[in-house]
Amino acid sequence: AMTAWIDGRPVEPRHDESILAAAARIGIEIPTLCFVEGLPADGGCRRCVVEIAGRDHLEAACHTALADGARVTTSGPRLGALREQLDALQRDPPPEAGCDESHPYLVFDAARCIGCRRCVQVCDEIPGRGVWQVAGPQSSPRVVCDGPGPLRESTCVACGACVDVCPTAAITDRDRRDAPAPERSVRTTCGYCGVGCQLDVGVAGGRVVRIDAARDAEVNRGALCSKGRYAHAWQGSADRLTQPLLRRGEAFEPISWREAIAWVAERLDSIHRAHGPDALGVMTSSRSTNEAAYLLQKLFRARFGTNNVDCCARVCHSSTALALAQVTGTGAASASFADIERASCMVVAGANPTEAHPVIGARLLRRARSGVPLLVIDPRRTEIAETATLHLALQPGTNVLLFNALAKLLVERQRHATDYVAARCEGWGAFEGFLAGFSIEAAAQRSGVALAQLDAAAELLAAHGPPLFVTGLGLSELTQGVGSVRALANLALLTGAIGRPGAGMLPLRGQNNVQGNADMGSQPGQLTGYQAVSDPTVRARFAATWGVEPPVHAGLTIPEMLEAATAGRLRALWIQGEDLAQSDPDEARVLQALERLDLLVVQELFLTETARRAHLVLPTAGFLEQDGTFTNGERRIQRVRAALRPPGEARPDWEVARELGRELGLAWNYESPADVLDEIARVAPELFGGISVDRLEPDGLQWPCPDRAHPGTATVHADAFVRGRAQFSIVSFVESSEASVPGYPLSLITGRVRDHYNVGTMTRRTAHAELAPDDALTLHPRDAAQLGIAEGDTACIESRHGRTVARVEVSERVLAGNAFLSFHFPETHANRLTGPARDPESNCPEYKLTAVRVAKA
Ligand code: SF4
Repeated sequence: AMTAWIDGRPVEPRHDESILAAAARIGIEIPTLCFVEGLPADGGCRRCVVEIAGRDHLEAACHTALADGARVTTSGPRLGALREQLDALQRDPPPEAGCDESHPYLVFDAARCIGCRRCVQVCDEIPGRGVWQVAGPQSSPRVVCDGPGPLRESTCVACGACVDVCPTAAITDRDRRDAPAPERSVRTTCGYCGVGCQLDVGVAGGRVVRIDAARDAEVNRGALCSKGRYAHAWQGSADRLTQPLLRRGEAFEPISWREAIAWVAERLDSIHRAHGPDALGVMTSSRSTNEAAYLLQKLFRARFGTNNVDCCARVCHSSTALALAQVTGTGAASASFADIERASCMVVAGANPTEAHPVIGARLLRRARSGVPLLVIDPRRTEIAETATLHLALQPGTNVLLFNALAKLLVERQRHATDYVAARCEGWGAFEGFLAGFSIEAAAQRSGVALAQLDAAAELLAAHGPPLFVTGLGLSELTQGVGSVRALANLALLTGAIGRPGAGMLPLRGQNNVQGNADMGSQPGQLTGYQAVSDPTVRARFAATWGVEPPVHAGLTIPEMLEAATAGRLRALWIQGEDLAQSDPDEARVLQALERLDLLVVQELFLTETARRAHLVLPTAGFLEQDGTFTNGERRIQRVRAALRPPGEARPDWEVARELGRELGLAWNYESPADVLDEIARVAPELFGGISVDRLEPDGLQWPCPDRAHPGTATVHADAFVRGRAQFSIVSFVESSEASVPGYPLSLITGRVRDHYNVGTMTRRTAHAELAPDDALTLHPRDAAQLGIAEGDTACIESRHGRTVARVEVSERVLAGNAFLSFHFPETHANRLTGPARDPESNCPEYKLTAVRVAKA
């Protein structure tokens, strides 16, 4: 039987029972104020908060489920102090604070609050937080934000859900205060992360006046994060590119589109004639539409005969895609977001969803709070780790050891899904033999995770699985990225997870259309729909539509293209909306490669670090200014609709590819992105055959969708694996070259924070810059003390590849010996630190582990 402890007394958790109810059952009374038996609990008064071992923040007992293994304390100095504060508030409420204008996006006018508590409830329900709380005596309750300071200093994540439900405009959006009423509203897909939330964009006077969550959308169900709702000011930013710019010496000269297209077509053609097809390369954009990516890769393949086509999936998810394709036959998520609500057990490995994918992060948080067992595997104590039933804080780069150890524990105890393994998998004998020789003790030692914790994790998977595995770049961006994902997939097979509703693999995708970009064939070895360039039948299929066969030999990946550029073999590179100079690892080498090119063309919103180095810069339309489709991380193809015209002469990427194709003599008659989508369906019928624009209402379609009668696929591999049987993999641990470097004692992890997006090109041009004004280096208190560095100091960070400076935060969220640095600001140049190491199979760089030394600047 399962056991938890309240004040040291054992109690058996029951399904759907709160800590408050479980405590009452064993005679422990927890003080309450707003709780009424029989009514939904919202934790609003905070009176019933308790401590749960391993979590920093206090939880309201009335609406937190008692999880198996939880150790709950209902009294003690910390709780006593808080309850005293609440008593004081009740006796003597603070004078009405008036209007709180501290937050860049939200305004709270206490004088308008009628204490209806809708905000309290929605904050619990949508972002899964408890920012709004009820204070004051029961006779005249008042709503206040958490923490002692103003709203700006509270735990608010600026999702805006409370604004939407507040009936009296006590909580309002600052940016809507003086804005005119929308003249029209346009439904489109968020252009930030790969969740693909649906937005209703209100437009007046040629600008965005408000963005609301689509309430009826399957993906986000009325929720948005701060970026989707508020971070749109970049759209009207004065420094948007509005005309094509041609380099003349050191300066850029504005030219017309006609001149630009003619000039670049001639340059590409002459480099092609002089140096052959493979002197050309292209990187399509994961920010742009499927149609734009498809046309540009087609242009380089069909017109110039090169497979030097890649995209930024290379530097994020290529390891995941490759590993899942090897194991199952499909390199994408097997599950859907809706499986979060169906899961009986969740694993979050190498992902920080409450910051990087907030709408999904909130759903995971809510499920975990309601009692669904959650295992988090991450070197950092992230917010989701705090909510976990169990958090395994492993050393960076040791995923393979930990996953193998869990596999061995499951098999040794015969807790694995034997029927599923026998019926649906292959390679079992060899895998079992490999596990027999694997040392759990050595794995525990190197990964830094105690044996008892490994035991508990294996038990959690066995008792509550099959799990939903939510993964991120903490698995893929390592020299053993492919290995990490394959080792995790072994666990998914052992627990019988892949192909079951409520379970399976759900890798979260970073950029809005990184899934679609790879789907479209922006990969050197695969054409649209993951069809191998080496396969003659596939080439014949493309030839039937394109009129010419795609080239047979696989092209170069991005890191290889940069090497070829440095060596003088690659002469021309077309970059569609990607700031390579800032986002790719080992910045010094990237810059060297770009400098050597005879022709660098960049399509961009702004004059980025990469665009500055271009020979020709083409102004592009942002996601609010173009039509087409994006594909989210659950394989859902959704419509993108222009809410506005692009500024000046900026043009959508798909249109530019079409014009260039025509200039180069191709008979490209596409009139709209819908025509391009129809062609995509024709060349890759197994995945997209049933997809066309008219079928994408209201909620898009999840591929595979092979014919027009097909409803799309929520769970892939349900009846059979795409490759027949799933493959167990033998993955031996390989130590990273960055793991222990003499003279560089700390292991640096890089990643995102909630308030910014990638290199910040868009978010830094909004009030999000006030929410997070700079990058920060997180150090463990022990290391900070040893180095004589205090919170707020500036530190110099040095690796073998470069150096930079950043402000320091001291926190136990990182392990001693580790450090974390975000990479959103050009001033920091975090990628001066990261090195050239990459996964040998996927070519994915190792952003998640760099040996560094840190000193006070
Ligand atoms: Fe946009 Fe992602 Fe936020 Fe949804 S979670 S609103 S898709 S950034």
